[in-house]
Amino acid sequence: MATRLQSRLAEMIDDTRALVEVESPSSDPEACREAIVVAERLCGQHLPTPARVETHEGCSVLRWGPDTPRVLLLGHLDTVWPCGTLRDIPWSVTVEERGTVLRGPGVFDMKAGAVQAIYALTEVLAHLPTADVGLLLTTDEEIGSARSKALILESCERAEAALVLEPSIDGALKNARKGTSWYQITVHGRAAHAGLDPASGINAMLAMARLALAVGSLADEAAESTVTPTLASAGTTGNTVPDHATLMLDVRAWSLADQQRIDDGVRALITDDSLMQGAHADVEGGINRHAMPESAALSLVSRVDALCPTLGITYPGARAVGGASDGNITAEAGVPTLDGLGAVGAGAHAIDEWVLAEAMPQRAAIVAALVLDLLTA
Ligand SMILES: [Zn+2]
Repeated sequence: MATRLQSRLAEMIDDTRALVEVESPSSDPEACREAIVVAERLCGQHLPTPARVETHEGCSVLRWGPDTPRVLLLGHLDTVWPCGTLRDIPWSVTVEERGTVLRGPGVFDMKAGAVQAIYALTEVLAHLPTADVGLLLTTDEEIGSARSKALILESCERAEAALVLEPSIDGALKNARKGTSWYQITVHGRAAHAGLDPASGINAMLAMARLALAVGSLADEAAESTVTPTLASAGTTGNTVPDHATLMLDVRAWSLADQQRIDDGVRALITDDSLMQGAHADVEGGINRHAMPESAALSLVSRVDALCPTLGITYPGARAVGGASDGNITAEAGVPTLDGLGAVGAGAHAIDEWVLAEAMPQRAAIVAALVLDLLTA
């Protein structure tokens, strides 16, 4: 299996190029749809039945296979890169000491992984033409999957496993992910002339600033949870006591219980008089993706460990990571979930993101073998 995929490496590289050269920032639904259409074409070239381009809550998605398969391959085609990035980071293939390196916006996170998923399916179907396996590629993963979440949950309704083709760090699988929560806090004060009558104002910016400092106390260093103020704005003019301010928080934690504790804490702080001093605040957001516990991946990790020698591949290991993905959603639904099955390389969301081409057939082989193992066990 690994050898046959190996012989298709040049094709895999071409297909990755086709996806990378259609830029698809999450914020641009038209652009994302074009990337989905390219993936549909690739599925048409390689798979015996056509894929479907669908729109769910405004989010373009690609679905192949049954709507609710026993094994769900999951990924996304949106990227963090705005249209035009290709001019700065053009598609390139270079032979370096570490191997053949592919570059281009979104190649690592996760267009190469999407190609690997399609090639893995070709292998699965070659061995088991009736395989109850499906592929779902979404286009709002990088902005929290609010629009595709319901579809992801529906798609894994009867799944025995969700295999997520997100990129891997040093090849390692991702067996646990932190949960994420996002908050947008709006502070309302009272405007006043900063020169004539400052005392009659209530400074929303200062209340927000006290809050931004106070939320740090909700982080638990021992539990490795973090609460990070990420965005702030306030005020109207240079000589007015600001009557409003907004603050965004990014929260990460290894357990849902810790996410819940921090959620309670945020809601308590915004009503704390010593911080607000006459201002009041309301909060949008909350727990976004639940933490993905190691237990969700346990059985799948040991299967990969056992399968690798039969493929002539060294077991890549597994590790827990801070970033969240759609694997958090499937794990939350109680579906055994293994993430980081995608491309080998580095630099997710960074200008130097790259993929090791030679690893693509191997990774596709691992996914195919795991699917077959699950379906024939
Ligand atoms: Zn990703």
